Amino acid sequence: MEILILFGAPFSGKGTQGKILSQKIGFQHVSTGDILRAERQNHTELGLKAETYIRQGHLVPDELLDEMIEHEIIKCKSSKGIILDGYPRTINQAHTLHSLAQKHGVAIRRVLFLDVPHDELIARGIHRGLDSDRIDDKDPAIMNKRIEIYRKETKPVGKYYIDKNMTVTISGIGDIEEVAERILASI
Ligand code: AMP
Repeated sequence: MEILILFGAPFSGKGTQGKILSQKIGFQHVSTGDILRAERQNHTELGLKAETYIRQGHLVPDELLDEMIEHEIIKCKSSKGIILDGYPRTINQAHTLHSLAQKHGVAIRRVLFLDVPHDELIARGIHRGLDSDRIDDKDPAIMNKRIEIYRKETKPVGKYYIDKNMTVTISGIGDIEEVAERILASI
């Protein structure tokens, strides 16, 4: 089992591309955002704790996610691999992932960085906000905050993997199929 990290800003298309790629290569798509939203809908303790942060556009504290990530790795151990979408988002999470991968004998194969310019992120955010039922897609101020938090807290994770020579940068501009083809060609 191996891990491919799908990395990018909010509205860069990670969720859409993660689903497509998982179908094409037979990996499990593991989106921390999707898992947290499901936890919230099921009114679990994690879901309720996470909701406050998600609603404000903040990151959920690292320690709330540790157990969840380990659980996903164990669950997928007998599969070909995982496409990890939305994790790690902090350097601390990158360290946790590294330790867990070592502990469970799993390789972190590559980081696929979906590169979308800031103005395009804003435009996509506005577009998605029109028909999204996500609690963090309603208010433009919260959507901007998510992009700002990405730039402050998550971008350093991108740099961390670039320095480790693990990153492939893929342009996220263009239609969905076009980007999907580019991603496939990069792995
Ligand atoms: P996403 O669906 O990836 O855009 O995630 C939606 C929200 O879930 C984020 O804005 C965060 O509040 C929370 N979230 C998802 N993944 C993480 C993570 N790795 N670390 C912290 N918070 C996260």
